[in-house]
Amino acid sequence: METENVVARLKSSGLFRTKGLIGGKWIDAYDGKTIEVYNPANGEVIASVPFMGEKETKDAISSAYDAFRDWSRLTAFDRSSRLRKWYNLLMEHKEELAQLITLEQGKPLNEAIGEVVYGASFIEFFAEEAKRVNGDILPSPMPDRRLFVLKQPVGVVGAITPWNFPLAMITRKVGPALACGCTVVIKPSELTPFSALAAAELAIQSGIPPGVLNVVMGDAPKIGNSLLESPQVRKITFTGSTAVGKKLMAGAAETVKKVSLELGGNAPFIIFDDADLEVAVKASLASKFLYTGQACICTNRILVQEGIYDKFMNAFSNAVKSLKVGNGFSEGVAQGPLINEAAIQKVESLVQDAISKGAKVVVGGKRHNLGLIFYEPTIISDVKNEMLIARQEIFGPVAPVIRFKTEEEAIQIANDTDAGLAAYLFTNNIQRSWRVSEALEYGIVGVNEGLHAYEVAPFGGFKQSGLGREGSKYGLDDFLEIKCICMGNMG
Ligand code: ADP
Repeated sequence: METENVVARLKSSGLFRTKGLIGGKWIDAYDGKTIEVYNPANGEVIASVPFMGEKETKDAISSAYDAFRDWSRLTAFDRSSRLRKWYNLLMEHKEELAQLITLEQGKPLNEAIGEVVYGASFIEFFAEEAKRVNGDILPSPMPDRRLFVLKQPVGVVGAITPWNFPLAMITRKVGPALACGCTVVIKPSELTPFSALAAAELAIQSGIPPGVLNVVMGDAPKIGNSLLESPQVRKITFTGSTAVGKKLMAGAAETVKKVSLELGGNAPFIIFDDADLEVAVKASLASKFLYTGQACICTNRILVQEGIYDKFMNAFSNAVKSLKVGNGFSEGVAQGPLINEAAIQKVESLVQDAISKGAKVVVGGKRHNLGLIFYEPTIISDVKNEMLIARQEIFGPVAPVIRFKTEEEAIQIANDTDAGLAAYLFTNNIQRSWRVSEALEYGIVGVNEGLHAYEVAPFGGFKQSGLGREGSKYGLDDFLEIKCICMGNMG
């Protein structure tokens, strides 16, 4: 019932789109197949979307390829002003977009509003950066030659995005791509396609021409393979699991595409004896439990030095017990459901494995009495870094706590993983903050800060957490080719 009410409101706003977008037209799957999308908070069907595959993806690639010619030749100022209009529309429709996110993804409405603002910020930022794709003039080794460097858009981009930030992961990729003059084929997660489709509707309204932005969804491996196989697609940008990222990287080799990957994390959150306890507790709560722990930069392991251990555990446990779990549309809810049954089963199995190897439940530890796919905010202690829960990405509201003695030990534990996305450390010792920041093998480090992602800051990981950086002035590089032009006979 509640799902129907929200959908009715969104339909009247014109933002509730349920078809794919190819060449500026809203399209069904060619064979009419559909896939249902569920509200994770109550299991109700929201609506169906087309279950597309190879044929539709090929057509989307062709329309992006055709649109590239004109889009890439527009002045940067023209592209910039259309992106700016898109940003304005996203912000004007902040409330409706947030409702859509909560409906399909489950996160509390205030977090969803935060996602819209964060997501829109990439369109605003890259509307500005579009005008700063500067070339270069190099000193020539020959007196009659001149050397120039020109930066040009790479071409058609395949953008594959996950369900945890259904809007922001689209804009973080499409903003820089369009700013450079690239065109895109987006494949959102089939679990959360509506935010992407609403964003595409607003892109059309902002004057972004047909074919510049296309959206297909359905059979993920078939769509992925079509993007990989096409020589017209010159870049794949992906956010999602490490396993799928590796497949895409391997598949991109055949046509030597550029690849940007934002994959799983295993973020350590290190609290030293000399930390400010209150700051550390507040940050650990946000870093672990925001988004129900379903962000790749969410804390995965809390490392606490022995001198502050008892005080921290006491304050942290009290804070975690106070978190209200429920439907993201309800007032005061801090934690929504997980995304689906598979996600909650993974959390359960990691907790069970840790307990069977000697870890102890301090708070929570089981499904919430709301039923369905809600899980209790949980703390487990006596965790060892060898346990599965410390090696795999939990992607749920479980905080495993590891006790350590020395700074060297903390760094060793923190770096003992294949992942390298985000890490956090808490200390009031300025030398230690630099020493440890430099030693951590991570792309994003927070010092007395538990979760940070801004459009102006580079986002990406070391090791198997990925390749390339999104956001910031560095975020354009992955969508550009560098051309060196040598002019001869210059006198
Ligand atoms: P998660 O476990 O967070 O859902 P996935 O990596 O499975 O992460 O999903 C991220 C995105 O990748 C989604 O849009 C999903 O549909 C897509 N995806 C999954 N498998 C493939 C594949 N074989 N090829 C291309 N995309 C895929």
